[in-house]
Amino acid sequence: MPGHLLGLRNWKMEHIQEVMERSFFLSRYRERKLDYLRGKLVAALFFEPSTRTKFSFEVAARWLSADFYDFPVEMSSVVKGESLLDTILTLKSMGLNALILRHPQSGTLEWLQNKVDITLINAGDGSHEHPTQALLDIFTIQKYFDRLKGLKIAMVGDIKHSRVVRSSIKGLKEMGAEVYLVGPPTLLPYCFQETGAKVGSSLEEVIKEADVVYLLRLQRERQQAGLLPSLEEYSYLYGLNIERLLLLKEGAMVMHPGPLNIGVEITQEALDKLHTSPPSGITVSIQRQVENGIIVRAALLDFLLKGDG
Ligand code: ASP
Repeated sequence: MPGHLLGLRNWKMEHIQEVMERSFFLSRYRERKLDYLRGKLVAALFFEPSTRTKFSFEVAARWLSADFYDFPVEMSSVVKGESLLDTILTLKSMGLNALILRHPQSGTLEWLQNKVDITLINAGDGSHEHPTQALLDIFTIQKYFDRLKGLKIAMVGDIKHSRVVRSSIKGLKEMGAEVYLVGPPTLLPYCFQETGAKVGSSLEEVIKEADVVYLLRLQRERQQAGLLPSLEEYSYLYGLNIERLLLLKEGAMVMHPGPLNIGVEITQEALDKLHTSPPSGITVSIQRQVENGIIVRAALLDFLLKGDG
């Protein structure tokens, strides 16, 4: 058992598979409260905003009967200058079993891992990793297509700043899918070629072949000046609009991790069409990703905490 989930980079395929199997098992009992984590104390400590991830962990932990505490960073001694490490050690002294941490600094969890004796779960560290998003996406794709092997997954947009991409490439490739990346050259650094993902030259070419078109949120809060001429140009070149939607192959799935920048990654018209009259069996899975997030995060907590006396 890995002990922590710092990122998918240091997870083995069997760990991912174990979480998938456990997720499929738990999904059968979504209507009932389960007892698996009774007596465990789980806390969320988020230094960046979140709607989906934090609440999803809370619902997941409570579903398995763990106690969940959402630590209010802005009301705590952190604002008096207490260090992150001291804060976590204080929580540990109060009996914490697992900490779900989101932090703007890439690598924060690696730095903490040998300093604290509790299970650490990465809920997003800077542009580095967001492993539970990748796990829930893998589950969503596997559940819909009944496989991952051989599927073509196109990840579109702001690759450079995306922690979702960094976790997903590893996880998806590990499970046998092919990953294609496409985006503005300034937001798609050469180093991504070393990940084994293929870099597509044109959005149109890539999305025509893809089983999954995964739109990434443009990380406006992480842009340095000069990487993009304008949002309008980004949307014109890389946004999903009606014309591009009609290029997708039959049965393809459109995904997005949320929150959505409507008018940037996707036009309102394309989104409405996907919801009301999608062409040739194309499906949009944004809500499904959110629902599956609860199941996968519950499976993960159960996996990581089961051996923790
Ligand atoms: N919610 C995801 C994250 O926290 C995706 C995003 O915000 O772009 O990374």
